[in-house]
Amino acid sequence: MVVILGKTVKKWKCIYKVCEASCCKIPRKLTLSDIKKIAEKTGRAPEDFVSITKDEDRGIPFVLKRKGDECIFLGKDYQCELHNKGVKPLLCQMYPFMLHKIIYGDEPVMLIKRIPECPGYGEGSTLTEEFLDEIKRQGQTYVTELRKIIKYRQQGLDPEEIIQKEL
Ligand code: SF4
Ligand code: SF4
Repeated sequence: MVVILGKTVKKWKCIYKVCEASCCKIPRKLTLSDIKKIAEKTGRAPEDFVSITKDEDRGIPFVLKRKGDECIFLGKDYQCELHNKGVKPLLCQMYPFMLHKIIYGDEPVMLIKRIPECPGYGEGSTLTEEFLDEIKRQGQTYVTELRKIIKYRQQGLDPEEIIQKEL
């Protein structure tokens, strides 16, 4: 289940040049499907772009690597190098919302919220019901991916072994 927290977003446009892609400075989790697609499309090995967080004992332990304080795939003019390859991570496709929290249970609940200080709110066209439904569908895919990782962990696999198993 996916819940959007906070005030309704009526209009939004990503004006990344204005904010200098500020949300690409927020650490970003990767699903196994993200890792697989990025590896296939860029020809890079997962260890080139995935950091593993050892402190997460039940969530997704895979995070996009960074150069300095920003994502490794943030290119010139604040453009995402994965955008044109069609393999932007799921959480990056969910802009203008970001992961807030997961409530664990038999069916994990994903709470998402507005991106702090995004200048794009109130810009561009009105967000449709279809747009918001698509965000929720993407969130549900994230929950499904999370459950896959939880299952592997229950089998005793560590994060590196999980990646090996899936790729
Ligand atoms: S979603 Fe908002 S904060 Fe992120 S790059 Fe676009 S305009 Fe900037
Ligand atoms: S993958 Fe692209 S959109 Fe996502 S954080 Fe990195 S540069 Fe930004």
